[in-house]
Amino acid sequence: MNEQTLALIKKNIRNAMENGTFYAKRFAGINVEDIQTEEDFRKLPFTDKGDLREAYPLGLMAVPEEQVVRIHSSSGTTGTPVIIPYTAQDVTDWAIMFERCYRVAGLTPLDRVHITPGYGLWTAGIGFQNGAERLGAMVIPMGPGNTDKQLRMMQDMGSTVLCATSSYALLLAEEITKRGIKDKIKLKKGVIGSERWGEKMRKRIANELGVQLYDIYGLTEIYGPGIAISCDYEDGMHYWDDYLYFEVIDPKTGKNVPDGTLGELVITTLRKQGAPLIRYRTHDLTRILTGPCPCGCPYPRIDSILGRTDDMIKVKGVNIFPAQIEEMLREVKGTSSEYQVMIDHLNGKDIMTVFFETELPQEQRKDLMGAVQAHCKTKIGIQIVPKAVSMGELPRSEKKSTRIYDNRY
Ligand code: ZN
Repeated sequence: MNEQTLALIKKNIRNAMENGTFYAKRFAGINVEDIQTEEDFRKLPFTDKGDLREAYPLGLMAVPEEQVVRIHSSSGTTGTPVIIPYTAQDVTDWAIMFERCYRVAGLTPLDRVHITPGYGLWTAGIGFQNGAERLGAMVIPMGPGNTDKQLRMMQDMGSTVLCATSSYALLLAEEITKRGIKDKIKLKKGVIGSERWGEKMRKRIANELGVQLYDIYGLTEIYGPGIAISCDYEDGMHYWDDYLYFEVIDPKTGKNVPDGTLGELVITTLRKQGAPLIRYRTHDLTRILTGPCPCGCPYPRIDSILGRTDDMIKVKGVNIFPAQIEEMLREVKGTSSEYQVMIDHLNGKDIMTVFFETELPQEQRKDLMGAVQAHCKTKIGIQIVPKAVSMGELPRSEKKSTRIYDNRY
């Protein structure tokens, strides 16, 4: 942590404590002037999503209300949603970061940006739009769903860039192939966000659409998508360290781990006004990458998101991340990127069944299943029941895919 970052963090904390109730309460008894080093900073308590929920509706607001121009809300799939207030400067800063993302992906004002993430309370669509407009590109603000209309507009407008979740990009790619309209599609790049996705899925989307793909990262609590993106070298994602401070911790102990070690990403905002966050636990699994990127971009990198720390499941006493299953399948020739895991408890034993899609004919699947079983045993240390199914048999979704079904509880 350099001096400038520390100074920004202190200013941020001071503002948050003076102008808002959330950190005034949370950091009561903490003297900002005592934070002199990175070590001091690391002693500050974490902020978790549950804390933000308790502040519902506007408890996170850290500026006088006349400065707030908009709110966004994270999906309330598990109870009370989180409301994040934005000032005009926050909205601008977000667009600046998003424009940087597009520039890293090589977009120009001549691009036509087809935006399929949703608009409204959540941050996706409008974030993609503001960044593209700031760049000077032409926005085609589709929003999600209605595949017929998507493909029609994509052809008629000559969309050159597709912004989508990975599962929706895959669905569109498969439809384009099915309808034989690939030669009428002008897409060159895909900016794909919001979900963890495997290398195989990435390759399938890239091949079927014939485009270069970029992973974009973000979360509503921290502006929204656009705080990090992969570059042409596809080795992690650059993030904007003049706006955000990233740490990686051991999700169990809360201690910082060395660079390069897998753990939970924790983010501190450096300039956010409406709702600054200090040491916010994302529950996203990644690592800090070291060394310069061959693309020459001066911003530091994290690895692509390898999963959620809460996705960790314990089967037969072994901790498993879905990312490991994906990686394991990737290493067995003949398997496709789509998979699904069922965990059951029968006769006192855990049973993990891994369904995966393959293009191989029935008579070759027995050997393939044997190979998957053996590789899983070596790699993850667990005995599974492999089940090969045909391409397209596993469900696709426009929303975040659920791939692991734990039927034990
Ligand atoms: Zn790079």
